[in-house]
Amino acid sequence: MTTTARDVATQFASVVGRDHVLAGDLATMLYARDGSIQDEGDCGLVVLPANTEEVAGCMRVAAAAGLDVVPRGSGTGLTGGAVPLAGSLVISLSRMNHIIEVDVPNSCAWVEPGVLNLDISTAVAHLGLFYAPDPSSQQACSIGGNVGTNAGGPHCLAYGVTNQHVLGMELVMADGEVITLGGPAPDPPGYDLRGVVVGSEGMVGVVTRICVRLTPEPPAIRTMLLDFPTISDAAAVVEQVIAAGVVPASLEMMDRNMLRTIEPFVHAGLPIDAAAALLVEVDGTPADVEAGTDAVQRVAAANNVGHVRVAQDEDERALLWKARKSAFGACARVKPNYFLHDCVVPRSRLVEVMEAIIEITDREDLICLNVFHAGDGNLHPIIAFDRRDADEVERVKRAGDAIIRKCVEVGGTLSGEHGIGLEKRDYMPLVFTEGDLEAQACMRRAFDPDERLNPHKVLPLGARCGEAMLGGREPPEGTWI
Ligand SMILES: Cc1cc2nc3c(=O)[nH]c(=O)nc-3n(C[C@H](O)[C@H](O)[C@H](O)COP(=O)(O)OP(=O)(O)OC[C@H]3O[C@@H](n4cnc5c(N)ncnc54)[C@H](O)[C@@H]3O)c2cc1C
Repeated sequence: MTTTARDVATQFASVVGRDHVLAGDLATMLYARDGSIQDEGDCGLVVLPANTEEVAGCMRVAAAAGLDVVPRGSGTGLTGGAVPLAGSLVISLSRMNHIIEVDVPNSCAWVEPGVLNLDISTAVAHLGLFYAPDPSSQQACSIGGNVGTNAGGPHCLAYGVTNQHVLGMELVMADGEVITLGGPAPDPPGYDLRGVVVGSEGMVGVVTRICVRLTPEPPAIRTMLLDFPTISDAAAVVEQVIAAGVVPASLEMMDRNMLRTIEPFVHAGLPIDAAAALLVEVDGTPADVEAGTDAVQRVAAANNVGHVRVAQDEDERALLWKARKSAFGACARVKPNYFLHDCVVPRSRLVEVMEAIIEITDREDLICLNVFHAGDGNLHPIIAFDRRDADEVERVKRAGDAIIRKCVEVGGTLSGEHGIGLEKRDYMPLVFTEGDLEAQACMRRAFDPDERLNPHKVLPLGARCGEAMLGGREPPEGTWI
C-alpha cells in the first residue's frame, strides 16, 4: 500500500474503526465478484459502516480522495452490479442489518439496507403481515440490494415488484449529504424521486434506511402444480388465464430439463416426464381462491393438462416452493457454472421465444434449462457450462447474444428484475436511442456530478451528458466471464 493509500485507509478507520476497513488480497478478492459470471473486478479498500453517519463520513473521505464508490449488499446480484472496477472503494452495508421500527397502523417498517429480504417477513409474521417481493434469493439478498436492482420474484405478478413496496428511503449522496425521499405518508408534495433511486444500481446514492410497505397475509392460499405434454400447452395456459381476468399470485414455469435437475436435489415429486410444469398460486378470500382455482383448472383442461397436484397443507406448499426456489442452485449438478438471462417478452410471444432459445442453444451444443416468471413474460434461460472450457465459453457468449437479440426483436426488453450492471450495459442501445441514453446520463449527473458512484455500469461507454462523461476519465475495459 502506498503512503497515500495508507493515509486514506487511516481516514476511513477513523470513521468506521480499524476492524471495519479491509485491505489486502484475500479481503478484497472476496468483494471483487457478485453472483454473476463477470470476471473478478478490481477492488480497492472495503469499508463496513455501522450507521448512516459512518456511511456519510466514508463518502466524504472518498470524495476528498477522488475515489469511486460501489455500494454492496449481499453480492447475490446477477449482472455484475456490485463488482468494483479500477480499484473502487466498496461500501458493504452488511453490518446495517436492523429492523428499526415496525409501524402497524401505517402498514410499513423502517429497515436498514443490510436486512435480508426474508427476515422482514419473518419478523412481522406474528402480526399477519409480510413483505411481498420475494426474489428466489430472498434468504440471502439484502433489501438495499433489492432497492438497487428493483428486484422481483414469483409473487410479484399480483403484488408488484420492489418499487411498489418502497414508500421512502434515506440516501447518502456522493458528497456525504444525507437526504430523505418519501415516507409512510401518502402523496408527499414535489417530485416523487423514489423511482429514480429504486433500480438505480448504486449510481445515485447509498441507501441507508428504507421504509417498506407491509402487506396483510391473504386469508386463503392454494398452490397447484400442473404438468403439460408440450411447452406450448403450458404457455397457452399462462396467456389464457390472464386473458380471462384472473391474476394468480404467481404463475411460474419449469421445463423438462429444469424439472429433471431439481427433482433429485429436492425430492418434491416433480413431474419429470412432462415437457413443462406450471406452479400456480392463487390467494385472497376463500371465494376468490375457489374462483381462481376453477378458472386455472378449466383453462388447463382445455390445453392438455396431465396431472393437477394441489398442495394439501402448508408443508406440501413449502416443498413445492423449495423446489422452485432451489432451481439455480440445482444447476450445479449439471455443470459448474451457469449463465442466466433475464429478458422479458410479451406473454403472447412466449412460445416463439422459447422455441428460438431451444434452437439457439442446440445449435451451439449447449445445455439450457428454463425456469421463469411466466406470468410476467420474464424468461430465465439458464445455460450450464464450464468456464475452464474456452470453446464452450465462446459458444455461451454467442448463444446469450442471440437470445437477447431475439427477445428484443419480438418487442421484449433486456431485464425484468436483475438489472443491467456490466452484463447488459452494452446492449442498452438495442432498446434506447442515443437521446434516451443521454437523458439518463444527464439525470445521473444531477445526483452524482463527478460520476463516482458505481461508474462504468448500466450506461454504455458512449452515453454522454453533453461533453461530460466520467469526468473525462477513461473507463476500464468492460469485463465478461
Ligand atoms: C439463486 C439466486 C436467485 C435469484 N432470484 C432472483 C429473483 O427471483 N428476482 C430478482 O429480482 N433477483 C434474483 N436474484 C438476483 C439478486 O438476488 C437480486 O438482484 C438482489 O436484489 C441483489 O441483492 P444483494 O443484496 O445481493 O445486492 P448486491 O448484489 O450486493 O447489489 C446489487 C446492486 O444494488 C446496489 N446496491 C446494493 N446495496 C445498495 C445500497 N444500500 N444502496 C444503493 N445501492 C445498493 C449495488 O451497487 C448493485 O448495483 C437471484 C440471485 C441468485 C443468486
